[in-house]
Amino acid sequence: MSTLFAPESPPLYADILDSLRELYLDDPRPWLVGFSGGKDSTMLAALIFSTVASLPPEQRTKPIAVLCTDTRVEIPAIVEMVEGTLDRMRRVSLARGLNIEAHLLRPTAEQSFWVNLLGRGYPPPNRLFRWCTQRMKIDPVTAFVTQRLGRWGEAILHLGARRAESSTRAQKMAGREARNGLRRHEDLPNVWISNPIEFLSTEEVWAYLLQHPNLWGGDNRVLYKLYAHASGGECPIQIDTKNASCGNSRFGCWTCTVVERDRASEGLLAAGDERMEALLGFRETLLHYRDPNNGKRDPVTKKNQDGPGPLTITARRELLTQLLQLEKETGLPLLSEEELFLIQRLWKSARDPDDGYGVARIVSEQRGIPMSDPQQDDQLRDLEDRIAAETGICADTLRRMLAKVNEYSESHRAMGLPDELLHILQDDLRQHRSESNALVLVR
Ligand code: SF4
Repeated sequence: MSTLFAPESPPLYADILDSLRELYLDDPRPWLVGFSGGKDSTMLAALIFSTVASLPPEQRTKPIAVLCTDTRVEIPAIVEMVEGTLDRMRRVSLARGLNIEAHLLRPTAEQSFWVNLLGRGYPPPNRLFRWCTQRMKIDPVTAFVTQRLGRWGEAILHLGARRAESSTRAQKMAGREARNGLRRHEDLPNVWISNPIEFLSTEEVWAYLLQHPNLWGGDNRVLYKLYAHASGGECPIQIDTKNASCGNSRFGCWTCTVVERDRASEGLLAAGDERMEALLGFRETLLHYRDPNNGKRDPVTKKNQDGPGPLTITARRELLTQLLQLEKETGLPLLSEEELFLIQRLWKSARDPDDGYGVARIVSEQRGIPMSDPQQDDQLRDLEDRIAAETGICADTLRRMLAKVNEYSESHRAMGLPDELLHILQDDLRQHRSESNALVLVR
């Protein structure tokens, strides 16, 4: 089996290619390749393509899958570039028989940024509550890898991580269990990680990219210019939560409120991408809504403790309205029908629940067309009112509980449901207590 490089001998590009070729031929496990569209993973993918292309056609049998994530809120220019690259990779693989697939993985609509923010009321993420990376970046990769492992048993995952990126990264890479140059993935035990460009400097990466055209075509000078405009690093493909925040001076989501300033978006705006002006403005709005001092957050947490809680339902309505306006202004498709339905469903079980038409009203106001199926049933509403009156339960509480049960049954899970129902009952109790206190005061 191949031994990758020792730190005391800085590798030449040819050494890396030799080592990859040896690993390809001596180790039967299929390969996965993390690709983010940034410089490091572009170099990594270029090396993998060159390795396979250098072999005689009859030896190119190893299944290889290039994996890239699209959070659905990526900076438009970046996602356009990445989609084009993946497309060219597929075409060249087919034309030259490289046996390399390229996949763009997205979070489910259920876990999209907007469904979590507008539907569940999660505040825009910060360093302490960074709910987005797991749901939007790690889970789609894990789901894909787990599904492939069912067929393959074990796999090698190549990543473009480099020690020179930061001292924290260098320490982490040095501390992981390694065998024959491969490290075991901490969460997916059947996945072994390879870091072929681990010991390269940033200059060496750029030198390679600018001197060697990619096998799939496309000019790395475009990438170089993008970096110059974005004036930041990159967001590597996220494979576990132990990695540093992806929201750290990189090409990340345009909605990212984890970073203080979104230099990538600012750089692209300065370079003439006018769409970024409105998107950056909306990011400022998200920061305003996250701040508990601005009255956009519940004063109690989801678990009924004092402290800033989810976004209020009014705040969510305001944000949805502004987001649909942004969609019109930029011409970018920001929200899918499926996400709108999910948001509507979640509003029914929120505090101060919606009547089931809130999203449809905002959509028809903003888009000028009705939502195709508001999924609401007046007869059902009457029935709920009747049951609530007969049993002495508050109708809104009953509706919230039913909506919550529906939410869980549609996603085929039960774990967490009893707690969620308990929180709704605690809300009901709190509401009644404050109403009776108000009555005592009036009397
Ligand atoms: S770039 Fe920011 S918003 Fe996007 S997943 Fe990373 S931390 Fe979250």
